[in-house]
Amino acid sequence: MAETTPETQSASAIRLYTHRAPIYDSSYHPSFTVRLFSHISPHLSPGLKILDLACGTGLLTYQLAAAVGPSGRVVGIDVTPGMLAVARAKLAAEPEKYANVALYEHDVTDLDGIKELAGMKGRFDGITGASMFVLFQDPVAALGHWVQYLKPGGFVALDVTHPQNLAYSGTVEKTARRMGAFMLYNRMWMKGPESLEEVMRKCGVEVKEMVVVENQSGQGDKKYGVEEADRLFEEGIDKEICRGFKESEAKRAEAKRLFKEEWEKQAVNGWVDEVDTVFLGIGRKDVEEPKSEFKALPIHSKVAFSGGCRCGSITYTSTTAPSAACCCYCAACRQLSGSGCIPWAQVHTDALTITITAPKSSSAQASTTLHTLNLSNAAERQFCNACGTPLFMVYKRNPEETSVSMGSIDEASLRCELPEIGSHIFLKEKAKWVTLPNDWALRCDEFTGRTAEEVLGGSD
Ligand SMILES: [Zn+2]
Ligand SMILES: [Zn+2]
Repeated sequence: MAETTPETQSASAIRLYTHRAPIYDSSYHPSFTVRLFSHISPHLSPGLKILDLACGTGLLTYQLAAAVGPSGRVVGIDVTPGMLAVARAKLAAEPEKYANVALYEHDVTDLDGIKELAGMKGRFDGITGASMFVLFQDPVAALGHWVQYLKPGGFVALDVTHPQNLAYSGTVEKTARRMGAFMLYNRMWMKGPESLEEVMRKCGVEVKEMVVVENQSGQGDKKYGVEEADRLFEEGIDKEICRGFKESEAKRAEAKRLFKEEWEKQAVNGWVDEVDTVFLGIGRKDVEEPKSEFKALPIHSKVAFSGGCRCGSITYTSTTAPSAACCCYCAACRQLSGSGCIPWAQVHTDALTITITAPKSSSAQASTTLHTLNLSNAAERQFCNACGTPLFMVYKRNPEETSVSMGSIDEASLRCELPEIGSHIFLKEKAKWVTLPNDWALRCDEFTGRTAEEVLGGSD
């Protein structure tokens, strides 16, 4: 065993990639990553949210960003400041083009430690990584962790090297393992595409495509003579990956002997073949069967949720789950609620049943009713006139849909899932003191996804 405490995977990655950062984009990686991306791009569409792990200088990140467009989001994470500095310089050069990219410096095996990713589990549409999946000692643990951040049905795209790719560094790894020295990368588990398929399957990812990407480095396949072991060992001894071999003269001699042994083991008829190929596995996270209680509730069969006003005079039930939710920051919502916004949930008007009863509190007015307010030609709002709770809003253009104020929903009654807030609307009227949450909801000056003309009826 090594006498010194082995450095951590991330410390080792930082050490190695700090050396590589200034020259990384002059290597074969840009050209290779373009070819790799060509196989991933069919799985991309505008609006997707992608987690690009060990993003390095952003070679894959910015291609992904262009594909998912302004409504999409690419989060790139890398542990090496030098690599990320190159990526950040690209962002700084074209901030508007890449406004959909966020970069964080962190260890990718600890996504939970990134505060900006809090609450993001199960929310990414895709997870990508280029030339990085061989860097982890325990690939199942690494991928299993990442997959938690993926939606069911979301895709994973990762490449791994052919077992005979980079014959020299493969032999360095075998040597280091026999010496008990820490090794940054781990290619030992890679016996072929089936190895990657197995790792993905163990993590709940079903492989849909296994692409053989040839000519990774552009050097093509090579042959080395079995007698070249000593020369290769001596030429490579100053590389970062060989640091563990130089701790002492004895270590160095042992390393050289083991390197030669491992090199010779690979030789066939006096030659060691190097195969310039990687395998790109593209899989999808398994989709669990939706819980039956949340499944399409037929209208009028049972109550999906209920709610009511503060004084209890007005209650309602809905037989269907809300289809969407938004926060409205318009001046009317702000003033009528005395707050920054009103969160609204959209339900089918036919699914709602409204019941008016006598007020429970003596302070409520005797003639309780659902008070209707028309503040504009666009919509009609309804309140409890006894306690003032805003309850409903219906756009006149679309009476089949009713917006229910989410604050009036009785959470204990929920037998369905409430949708996440999908949009922040009427931001042109938002109060300055309101800070929007750091979420992925659409930001709209006026209405969500629809122009004012569409909602209001237009002028033509
Ligand atoms: Zn009331
Ligand atoms: Zn509003």
